[in-house]
Amino acid sequence: MANVESFDLDHTKVHAPYVRLAGVKRTPRGDAISKYDLRLLQPNQGAIEPAALHTLEHLLAGYLRDHLDSVVDVSPMGCRTGIYLAVIGEPNEQEVLQAFGASLRDTAAHDRPIPGVSELECGNYRDHDLAAARQHAREALDQGLKVQETVLLQR
Ligand SMILES: [Zn+2]
Repeated sequence: MANVESFDLDHTKVHAPYVRLAGVKRTPRGDAISKYDLRLLQPNQGAIEPAALHTLEHLLAGYLRDHLDSVVDVSPMGCRTGIYLAVIGEPNEQEVLQAFGASLRDTAAHDRPIPGVSELECGNYRDHDLAAARQHAREALDQGLKVQETVLLQR
């Protein structure tokens, strides 16, 4: 089976909440696509409830695009401790940190309907929790976001 970069990260050596450059891939034409690990909760010490994570996905999908150019994808992690962000190009981690912080502030303040929540627009439109999503965003901001280096597992 192919190697997966995130399985090489020592999840016991990171300190959430953080922004981490998870990897950079080159297209055949030489363009860079960068993937970032945007971690809200400390791994293995809790998990965001599925409904709250789903709402975070909907809100951050829009807000990260407001604050960062060339977003390809925003996806929740299966472990429910954060989200992945893929962008065209190689923005530095400080730029992504600023964008993530601004997006979390927008999320914490979001008091309108959640975008994309209808049977037509979403695959599980009943499964949302705006109050909990706002609370997770606020807690991450209160703890202070930082840039996290990748600490590789020693195998
Ligand atoms: Zn949805």
